[in-house]
Amino acid sequence: MRQAAITAAQRGHEVILCEKSGRLGGMLNSADDISFKKLMKQYKNALITQVGKAGIKVLLNTTVTPELVEQIAPDTLIAAIGGEALIPDIPGINGDSVYVAARDFGKGKEIGQKVVVVGGGLVGCEESIHYREQGKDVTILEMGDTLARDAWFLHLRATLMEMEKLDVKSCLNTRCTKITDKGVFAVDADGKEVFFEADTVVIAAGLRPRSDEAEALRFTAREFVRVGDCKECKRIYEATRTGYDAAVTI
Ligand SMILES: Cc1cc2nc3c(=O)[nH]c(=O)nc-3n(C[C@H](O)[C@H](O)[C@H](O)COP(=O)(O)OP(=O)(O)OC[C@H]3O[C@@H](n4cnc5c(N)ncnc54)[C@H](O)[C@@H]3O)c2cc1C
Repeated sequence: MRQAAITAAQRGHEVILCEKSGRLGGMLNSADDISFKKLMKQYKNALITQVGKAGIKVLLNTTVTPELVEQIAPDTLIAAIGGEALIPDIPGINGDSVYVAARDFGKGKEIGQKVVVVGGGLVGCEESIHYREQGKDVTILEMGDTLARDAWFLHLRATLMEMEKLDVKSCLNTRCTKITDKGVFAVDADGKEVFFEADTVVIAAGLRPRSDEAEALRFTAREFVRVGDCKECKRIYEATRTGYDAAVTI
């Protein structure tokens, strides 16, 4: 979102950047308290500084709706509204001990000493390292047979080495079936029911694009383009690239 706005403004367009929350940064704000993501935080802050310098009009606490677009009447609408956390339909998922990684960061929710992370993709693995660094007891439950399958090779090696060094426990081929205030029930590789005690259950089951919300905006401006996680939930590289490409072709 920020890259599309910056590039469009640098090319002479009059740009209005609307953000539903009270701060810019989107999912990059999830890096704020993570020791090994200092560079990500710096990158986010650099983008925010550039937004300020590029003369972009920023409207915070402003949700873009078809009515708002009609009122602003832009020539082009770049939808960069991101993705939302996938919340699996598991009994107990709305319990007080549940923390959804892509939704609850920055809200000051307390994480207990015994942590079970549901989902062993890159986000789940990085969450596990973060909590292990804080001395918590962490176990990852992953229903597939590999961890961090979404990471590129070097990132994968580094992540797995760090997890090993910190003694993060992980159970592959293990599907979470129920969450209670005492922990997580799961079915293991042999089809047996197993129980994992937990004070906090971290859900890291992936993201999905905010497609319906974006498509509701499609015909509100002459030109419309979806970028970043709102097009496909990937990484900063793809979000930046698609934002830049949109801004240079309008
Ligand atoms: C926990 C976590 C860790 C991650 N770590 C990494 C990492 O280490 N490296 C990496 O490359 N990628 C990482 N990612 C992915 C990366 O954060 C995203 O790919 C990237 O932030 C996508 O940028 P975006 O601008 O498309 O969407 P977002 O960052 O999601 O921004 C979308 C913004 O749109 C706002 N919004 C939503 N609806 C509206 C509306 N109707 N009107 C106005 N505003 C709206 C939201 O409030 C949000 O600020 C991580 C993701 C998560 C969840």
